[in-house]
Amino acid sequence: MHTTALQQELMDALHGHTCPLCAVIERSLKTQIGHILYESVNDGILRSRYIEKDGFCHRHGKLMRAVGDPLAHAILYGHLLKMRLSSWQKPRPKPLKQGCLLCVRETEIETHVISAFTHCLKADDFLTAYRNNGLVCQDHFHQIALNPARRAHAEVLEGFKRVTLDKYAQLLHHLEELARKHDYRYADEPRTQAERVAWQEIVDLLGKKR
Ligand SMILES: [Zn+2]
Ligand SMILES: [Zn+2]
Repeated sequence: MHTTALQQELMDALHGHTCPLCAVIERSLKTQIGHILYESVNDGILRSRYIEKDGFCHRHGKLMRAVGDPLAHAILYGHLLKMRLSSWQKPRPKPLKQGCLLCVRETEIETHVISAFTHCLKADDFLTAYRNNGLVCQDHFHQIALNPARRAHAEVLEGFKRVTLDKYAQLLHHLEELARKHDYRYADEPRTQAERVAWQEIVDLLGKKR
């Protein structure tokens, strides 16, 4: 990934209450998945590398299924199932390994994207764009603003942290208003558009990946 292109991608991914980092990481992961599915049909070594880890975790498996490709799935999972069956027939089947190769790949992509985002924050116009139209999820907020290893950018991160906390406080207000207006005494007060979507947005923003 070229850094400048990645920074532009992050800028373009600033969009309401959808985490720009999650969006860019997922897009990159989907491209990777597309390659795996395409190559795995003919590339036996690649196939075994993915299968060595006992297949894919639930999250990445679902992402892969969403990309589609029945033939590649039949081949990859056919090999996996064959191995699984032979292991289950033994008196002591081997325990399953944790995570999958896409978990490893995702961590690499994430490190790269976080460092590009931190770099972006040094530009005033990026922080302004973030203030106007962006919000990171809690996972990425922790990794960017609360990571002691990033002290070198303390000042930049302070601005980012302030903006993010203000936005989360606003989101909390929308949730509280939504709950309040559920009460019959206030039921005739109209709900704002922000209140209507806040309960859905918060699920992704506060979801823990690991
Ligand atoms: Zn995120
Ligand atoms: Zn995984």
